[in-house]
Amino acid sequence: MAEELNPFAIAQKQLDQAAEIMGLDPATHELLRWPLRELHVTLPVRMDDGTVKIFHGFRVQYNDARGPTKGGIRYHPEETIDTVRALAAWMTWKTAVMDLPLGGGKGGIICNPKEMSQGELERLSRAYIRQVGRILGEEMDVPAPDVYTNPQIMAWMMDEYSFMRGYNVPGVITGKPIPLGGSQGRTDATARGGMYCIREAGKVLGIDLKGATTAIQGYGNAGQYAHLLGEELLGLKVVAVSDSKGGIYNPDGLDPKAVIEHKQKTGSVINFPGAKNITNAELLELDVTVLIPAALENQITSANADRIKAKIVAELANGPTTPEADEVLFKNGVYVIPDFLCNAGGVTVSYFEQVQNAYDYYWDVETVHERLDKKMTAAFHAVHETAQEYKVNNRMGAYIVAVSRVAEACKLRGWV
Ligand code: NAD
Repeated sequence: MAEELNPFAIAQKQLDQAAEIMGLDPATHELLRWPLRELHVTLPVRMDDGTVKIFHGFRVQYNDARGPTKGGIRYHPEETIDTVRALAAWMTWKTAVMDLPLGGGKGGIICNPKEMSQGELERLSRAYIRQVGRILGEEMDVPAPDVYTNPQIMAWMMDEYSFMRGYNVPGVITGKPIPLGGSQGRTDATARGGMYCIREAGKVLGIDLKGATTAIQGYGNAGQYAHLLGEELLGLKVVAVSDSKGGIYNPDGLDPKAVIEHKQKTGSVINFPGAKNITNAELLELDVTVLIPAALENQITSANADRIKAKIVAELANGPTTPEADEVLFKNGVYVIPDFLCNAGGVTVSYFEQVQNAYDYYWDVETVHERLDKKMTAAFHAVHETAQEYKVNNRMGAYIVAVSRVAEACKLRGWV
C-alpha cells in the first residue's frame, strides 16, 4: 500500500496510535479526530492590472476546550483544507503540550505570494479578514504568521479587524510589528524554542553540542534563525542549509550572516561562494549530528528514513516526518524532537504577546527569553519522561501529554 501523505490523515493516524496507547475512551477519541468548526471563504481581489481574481481560503477551529483557538495563517499555492485541518490539530496538541490556556486553529489561502505585489497581498489579506473576521477575536480565535505570511500581513489584518469592530484590537492577532503591539522576541521565537529543546536533548543523550555538525532544510523565518541561534546559543556548526531551489554544503561550516545576505541578494541560498550545491534530498541524508527540517510536510518518509544519519532530528517544520518514517527512526535510535514540541516557541511567545496586549504593558526581551526557556524546558522534559515511561517514541510521548490535557478539559466541560 502506498504511504499515506495526506497531512490530515497522518494527524488522525498519530492520534489513533496515541489513543490506543493511552486507552482513550471511544467518544473522546472520535471528538478529537475532527475539527469542531471550519469556515471556507471565497475572496474576490482587484489585481494591479485591473482584473478581479478569485481566491479560496479557510479557517479551521479544531478544539477550544482549553481556551480560544490559536494558529497561523499560511499563504501557499498548494494549500488544501486537509493541510489546514492537520495544522489546526497539531496546534491543539502544541498549545496543550506547552500548557498554554489556548486551543488550536489554523488558516490558509491558496495563492502564490511570490507572484503578487505588496498591494495585491494587502487587498487579499484584508479580504480574508472581512470574511473570517466574524469568527475571530481575542476570546475566540487568534491567528498568527505561518509559511509566506509575516508581521506586515499581520498588521494589515489587525487593522482591517479593528475597522470591523470600530476600535483598536491589537490582541486579535499575534506576530505583529512591535510598534503595533508585537512582542519583543517573537521573530526568532520558533527557532529559539527549538534550540532550547536541542540543548536539553544534548543533556539527556550525553551529546556535546559544541561544534556538532548540523543541517537545516528550509531557510525562511524558522531556518534562518535556527542557523543564527544554533551557532550563538549552542555552538552548533551548520554545514548545510537549503531552500525551495536547493541546498549548499561546506564541511567547514557556513557563516549565517553571509548566507542570509546571499539569499537576500539572489533569492536563494544556492551558488553560495565556497560551498557545494546539493539537493534537498542529499541534505537530509548527510552524516550530521543534528538535522533540522524547517520547511514543509512529508520530507522524511519511508523512502529515505533508513538513510537518515543524524542523532537528533529537531522538527521546526510542522509534519516533516510520516508515521512510517517515525517507526524507522525510532528503531534506528534517532532522537526526534517532535514538531509540536520543537516549534512551540512561536506560539508560546504569541501567547506572551496576547498577555501583554491584554495588560497593555510590555516586557523586555530578556524577560521573554527567560519565560520562553522555562516553558520549553518544562515541556521538553514532560515529553521525554512520558516517552521513557511508556517506552514509545517522543512523538507518542508528546501526544500522550497533550491529548490527556485536552481530553481532561473536554470531560470537565461535560462534552464527553
Ligand atoms: P517561511 O515562509 O519563512 O520559510 C519557508 C522556507 O522553506 C523558505 O526558505 C522556502 O524556500 C523553504 N521551502 C519551501 N519549500 C521547500 C522545499 N520543498 N524544500 C526545501 N525548502 C523549502 O516559513 P517559516 O515560518 O520558516 O515556516 C517553516 C516551517 O516551520 C513550516 O512548517 C511552519 O509551519 C513551521 N513553523 C513556523 C513557525 C513560525 O513562527 N514561523 C512556527 C511554528 C512552525
